[in-house]
Amino acid sequence: AKEEGRNNYQFYSSKMMNIALKKATMEKELRRAIEENELLVYYQPQIDARNRSLVGVEALVRWDHPEKGLVPPDAFIPLAEETGLIKDLDHYVMCQAMSDMVEWQQMGLAPGILSLNLSISQLMKNDFFFKLQKTLLETGFKVKWLTFEITENQVMLNPKRSIKKLTMLNQMGVKISIDDFGTGYSSLAYLKRFPVDKLKIDKSFIHDLPYNAEDCAITNAVIALAESLQLEIIAEGVEQRDQVRYLLEQGCYIIQGYHYSRPLPKKEMTEYLQR
Ligand code: C2E
Ligand code: CA
Ligand code: CA
Ligand code: CA
Repeated sequence: AKEEGRNNYQFYSSKMMNIALKKATMEKELRRAIEENELLVYYQPQIDARNRSLVGVEALVRWDHPEKGLVPPDAFIPLAEETGLIKDLDHYVMCQAMSDMVEWQQMGLAPGILSLNLSISQLMKNDFFFKLQKTLLETGFKVKWLTFEITENQVMLNPKRSIKKLTMLNQMGVKISIDDFGTGYSSLAYLKRFPVDKLKIDKSFIHDLPYNAEDCAITNAVIALAESLQLEIIAEGVEQRDQVRYLLEQGCYIIQGYHYSRPLPKKEMTEYLQR
């Protein structure tokens, strides 16, 4: 048994070594990716389903890896969070997206509102507001067009500090959207105290609409909550016409999902705006 225990230990430790090694390699690669502009910003339209007009776009990062090709964010954002690289990543996306938006505006196109995913660790950094102001100045992007999407779980890690920072953003004129709403352990009491402007219904609740009774109930409850707190409501992950119809009936008009468009690279987004 002793022998076996040792073998097990060696087995696990070599497995752990492998994971650690893989992580270290990826961290190095990700650092390079940020420095060498291997990151791409894609844009997904947010549509007012009542008249099919464009309300805004959400910026979504991709990694154009030299060997692996286009890597989705779920494969590297957690590592970026863990290693602190998320700070540079989010900053890169913010600069790129704001300058693309200004370019579209100057072309006479109307991209509307820019939604950026913001990691709470970024927001908590002392130099965050300085960097935000600097990027706004450098790109010429107006703060009234800006929304930050923050997940409720991240906010609930430190509600008091979050409220303080979000209030500062709010006073600047930036809008705050709670992303993945309904999936986390948000407390309604806190929601009332947060300077929040929008709720984004998570795509996991949208997926089986309108056929799953529980998902319908949750969606309706979130819409009712948003209405009573006078928050904007937006649905993500909408793929089917039936889902659009259901959401419209329930009073959710702003919709994001494959039904209208996949996230698009800059060039295709430009063509989309020109149509
Ligand atoms: P998220 O913020 O919840 O973004 C929505 C995700 O749903 C995106 O995945 C989008 O491509 C996908 N999606 C959109 N419409 C549909 C649909 O109709 N059906 C389905 N099944 N999916 C749809 P993506 O681009 O892979 O991003 C994954 C997550 O990575 C994002 O989730 C966000 O949390 C994070 N992320 C992406 N870009 C950034 C970034 O620049 N900074 C930070 N901090 N996080 C980011
Ligand atoms: Ca988001
Ligand atoms: Ca989401
Ligand atoms: Ca998410």
